[in-house]
Amino acid sequence: MSDDKQLRMIIMGPPGAGKGTQAPAIQKKFNAAHLSTGDMLRAAVAAKTSYGVEAKKLMDAGELVPDEIVVGLIEENLKTNPLCQNGFILDGFPRNCAQAEKLDAMLKAMDKPLNSVIELVVDDKLLVDRICGRLIHPASGRSYHKVFNPPKVPMTDDITGEPLIQRSDDNEEALKKRLVAFHEQTAPVSNYYKKQGIWYGVDAAQSPEAVWDSINAIFNKTL
Ligand code: ADP
Ligand code: ADP
Repeated sequence: MSDDKQLRMIIMGPPGAGKGTQAPAIQKKFNAAHLSTGDMLRAAVAAKTSYGVEAKKLMDAGELVPDEIVVGLIEENLKTNPLCQNGFILDGFPRNCAQAEKLDAMLKAMDKPLNSVIELVVDDKLLVDRICGRLIHPASGRSYHKVFNPPKVPMTDDITGEPLIQRSDDNEEALKKRLVAFHEQTAPVSNYYKKQGIWYGVDAAQSPEAVWDSINAIFNKTL
């Protein structure tokens, strides 16, 4: 793949849309870096770093953490993660227009502009069941669902055999606030990229397999 055809994408959508389910398959297909600010923040929370302690309160309340923290995490990863040589998938970032502008400036300086923004579009009413039944493997970020995508052995990661957990912000109350943050702050990011002509919507109410087929159809057009 020539450098200008390298995958440099954002996957966006509300909590529970399926970003974390689809991103590992994209990562595997392109051997690109999967940079999830949510996973990075949860790692900082688990490591009890100073900003991790601060971030946990905001995450559990369903609010966004300050831009400086997530912009710093993305910048550091874009510069140091060796897989970024093959491209990158940004998951959960940018979450507002200020983050999108900072990202554009960063990528312009690196001469690595984005080539696609794929939004998983799904009605809010499907998200409560998805979020409240979600189970994750913290070390990898792999997600399962109690009903829609159960692990082979209950509460156990299929690949490592390690325990699965439920995220502390995956409850109805925090989800309500996360959806408000999404509609107020993240939805305008779609328009930002629509104006650049690189935004593609995918119907994420379909089965995970059908969502994957729709994503691949976009790659066939853009890369
Ligand atoms: P989901 O996959 O459910 O959409 P994430 O794992 O992406 O959620 O994010 C979990 C929480 O981490 C968010 O509710 C927010 O508090 C924080 N967070 C993640 N990414 C960002 C970001 N780019 N800007 C601000 N806060 C973020
Ligand atoms: P996000 O990263 O966008 O917050 P996830 O990929 O973690 O979302 O998915 C949220 C939950 O919904 C998980 O438990 C996952 O197994 C499940 N899920 C993902 N995609 C689908 C789908 N297309 N149909 C039904 N459930 C899904």
